[in-house]
Amino acid sequence: MTNDVVVVGSGGGALIAAYLAQKSGLKTVVLERTNLVGGTSAYSGGSCWLPGTEVQQRAGLSDSTEGARSYLEALLPTPLSTNVEVFLAESPKLVAELEADDAFEWEWSPFPEYFDAPGRVPMGRSIQPSNIRRDELPAEVGALVRPPVERDRAGEGGRNTLSGGQALIARTLMAFVRDGGTVLTDHNVIDYVVENGRVVGVTTEGGETIRGERGVIVAAGGFEGNDTLRSANGVPGAAEWTMAPTGTNTGEIIEAGKALGAAIDHMDKAWLCPGLEQPEGGGSFTLGFRGGVMVDSDGRRYANESLPYDQFGNQMAGAPNRIPSHFVFDSREGGGLPAIAMPEGDPAEHLKAGTWTQADTIAELSEKLGLTDLSETVERFNTFARNGVDEDFGRGKDEYDNFFTGGATLIPLETPPYIAARFVLSDLGTKGGMVIDEHGRVVRPDGDPIPGLYATSNSAASIFGPFYPGPGAPLGQALVFASRAVQHITAEENA
Ligand SMILES: Cc1cc2nc3c(=O)[nH]c(=O)nc-3n(C[C@H](O)[C@H](O)[C@H](O)COP(=O)(O)OP(=O)(O)OC[C@H]3O[C@@H](n4cnc5c(N)ncnc54)[C@H](O)[C@@H]3O)c2cc1C
Repeated sequence: MTNDVVVVGSGGGALIAAYLAQKSGLKTVVLERTNLVGGTSAYSGGSCWLPGTEVQQRAGLSDSTEGARSYLEALLPTPLSTNVEVFLAESPKLVAELEADDAFEWEWSPFPEYFDAPGRVPMGRSIQPSNIRRDELPAEVGALVRPPVERDRAGEGGRNTLSGGQALIARTLMAFVRDGGTVLTDHNVIDYVVENGRVVGVTTEGGETIRGERGVIVAAGGFEGNDTLRSANGVPGAAEWTMAPTGTNTGEIIEAGKALGAAIDHMDKAWLCPGLEQPEGGGSFTLGFRGGVMVDSDGRRYANESLPYDQFGNQMAGAPNRIPSHFVFDSREGGGLPAIAMPEGDPAEHLKAGTWTQADTIAELSEKLGLTDLSETVERFNTFARNGVDEDFGRGKDEYDNFFTGGATLIPLETPPYIAARFVLSDLGTKGGMVIDEHGRVVRPDGDPIPGLYATSNSAASIFGPFYPGPGAPLGQALVFASRAVQHITAEENA
């Protein structure tokens, strides 16, 4: 099968690359290993950290490219890398290009940024595609979009209104198919086809060769679903606990890039988060704690529970006695988890499976869990809560801490029965992958590009290194470098 462009994977970065390539007249095929399109991106909130666009201006935000540069300069090594500068310069152009097509509609998605640094925008600068109803989509498009995580894991179909990542995938897929693009599901790409030193296609597990004469763009997630690669690279957590759909992002295609000579970077990093352990064993991305305390296996708190999830995940990864952790909460909310867990699961099932433990007093709960310091920890925290100051970890000081609670972030645990939920270390994907240049080209350790090979999304090493600047950073960078790859492929001198 011969095409101009082959896109490997079908998350946000992949589909934006495919859409832009097809729109510019290149015959483009998307290859997806599962029978559904969208990957983890379809589970996501669809928030994109794309600073300085018209969308933020329309919303009247104090956002600008300059402001975002100051913010990033406070976090990342300076001067900022070429890729970060390209990201800043290209974000507004990309969103304008997408908004010129009726298939796309973007809006501000209020959600605080993750660091208190110069240039931070109150309530955040992230944007997301507007919701779209299923009946506005061609039926074959609606049927292909991977359902939200809680429904997908339960084997259920998607909702009638597609929001967040669902809307991102649905809108982009709709536009790509409308423009004549091809999607082949159940196509697991295992290697590249190289001729005269140039990548000109891929081979699949089924033995097909699919050619992309002008370029192959890899946007097939990271290696979060592969325990062997995780431990070889020192990524904390486990494949069992990742949020990526089961059996998807296993990283062999990154390894195949490495075998071609690609440089790799940030291979020990992931977009971490606390994961509510599920009765059947997986982890559920949890954020927005509205009460309770997280303790280690000694029954001691070790961080501000309201930290941005990636920062809390890094705290969890900081000591072996934090995995699993126990999140101890009271029954102020009727026995449900005072946090947002995707999915939360049924409290009765948790109690039956032992992932949650319940008792009438904290002392009894401590005994059941075998945690010596729990009573002391809860008493100390309750004193802080009553005084309004967390003297140990400063919980409730930052805008992010209070976003989910309306300001009452320090809440004493005093309504029995008390519950402890087991938490593992989950992630939204790994951050390490093939190193790309400012055109999205995969490069060798000496910086020379591998002709014909491009990468973005979590298949490429994150341009933000160890940092997670704000909501939508994974998708924001993925979309911009998808666009850069297509710009390079379509540039006249590369035709
Ligand atoms: C609940 C939740 C909320 C989130 N919210 C946000 C948010 O609002 N904003 C944000 O930026 N990030 C968010 N994230 C994180 C974000 O979704 C992911 O980091 C990002 O979507 C990963 O994109 P990707 O394209 O690298 O991988 P994916 O979206 O997982 O796509 C990879 C696809 O490639 C396919 N694939 C893998 N290997 C192959 C192969 N060899 N051949 C063919 N196909 C292959 C997979 O099956 C998969 O469909 C969230 C994550 C979760 C779980």
